[in-house]
Amino acid sequence: MTRCTTARVDLAALDRNFRAIGGYLQDEASLNRGAGRGAVRPPGIIAVVKANAYGHGARPVAKTLEAAGATMLAVADIEEGVDLRRSGIHAPILVFGALSVSDLDGVFDHDLTPTISSPAAGAALQAVADKRGTKLRYHLKIDTGMNRLGFRHDNLRRTLPALLSSPNLSLDAVHTHFGSADEPGHQLFDDQRTRFESACHVLDELSAGPRLRHAANSAALLRDSRVWYDLVRPGLLLYGLVPPPLGSTLPLAPVMFLTSRVVAVKGVRAGETVGYGGRFTADRAVTLAVIPAGYADGLDRRLEGRGAVLIRGRRAAIVGAVSMDMLTVDVTDIDAVGPGDEVVFLGSQGSEPQQTIDAREMAAWIGTIPYEILCRLGARVEGKYA
Ligand SMILES: *Cc1c(COP(=O)(O)O)cnc(C)c1O
Repeated sequence: MTRCTTARVDLAALDRNFRAIGGYLQDEASLNRGAGRGAVRPPGIIAVVKANAYGHGARPVAKTLEAAGATMLAVADIEEGVDLRRSGIHAPILVFGALSVSDLDGVFDHDLTPTISSPAAGAALQAVADKRGTKLRYHLKIDTGMNRLGFRHDNLRRTLPALLSSPNLSLDAVHTHFGSADEPGHQLFDDQRTRFESACHVLDELSAGPRLRHAANSAALLRDSRVWYDLVRPGLLLYGLVPPPLGSTLPLAPVMFLTSRVVAVKGVRAGETVGYGGRFTADRAVTLAVIPAGYADGLDRRLEGRGAVLIRGRRAAIVGAVSMDMLTVDVTDIDAVGPGDEVVFLGSQGSEPQQTIDAREMAAWIGTIPYEILCRLGARVEGKYA
């Protein structure tokens, strides 16, 4: 049995996106070599698959990206990493999140690479590694201005020595995370870059040994090759979307398609209202199509009066409240809509620009970012992989 509302995940498109990013990194690096500026070596790719691979399904996505040649995969917490190992992923897995209140055994039992972002986390991992008689490789996180996780960039000489001398911990890489890479012209981006580079010099002075450096999320990767360093960490780009408001000529394609079917068509007279709260009043005789998808499927209630779907290649406005299990769209001007007709929330029904809706457009309708749209697609939505 399958529900009408399905999320189809196109793993071939994911694979092509990964290769398009890899090709871009290669091409730009060789252009830079010619011009003597920016990154001259293409960096490796840490493919970010946190949050159930941005709602696309962590296991199949990770498998595809591992096969495509990702240097590493990255997840938000130990639990996500353990799940990938259980599904047979062998590539190195980096855990981004803070580990202070986690059960650390998963890191050791499942060969995960933790991010150490505080002296306390370092001490806790050192203690477990010592007890287990093993040596653990880790990535060090520097806070260069995001002011969330990480060792502050401006007092590393005081905070790092204890970590660096931990006998059972070995530093593999150092990284930071940009807070404003997607805001062109925001000064914080350059400030973070110079602070990160100073932090790397401090590590040299503390003779922390050779290690890799990484910093770039999708927006930073597109914005400035000087922050590619040894590895880049795209998430959204892999899923075929450029972080707004940036543009790019990269040949990316969306990976997630969300569709449903019309289950009922209904006529409403002028002056009648529709749905909870009666907030939509028909100003003429209106034909509505009822679609069995609602906020339990991850469709935001704010789509009411703002969003649209595709039916028979045309846009139909979402009118009336988005309820838990269904919503209604105005199909008055679309001919011959009937039960069974395909409804597209994310995807295409033709080749005209108006016949495609992507997560960036849906996000703009309701004042959010495409990340939130993708991650939210409810657990109830039937996933299909192709
Ligand atoms: C989520 C995340 C990324 C990927 O961000 P995108 O904007 O999706 O490319 C990279 N690095 C860290 C630390 C993250 O948390």
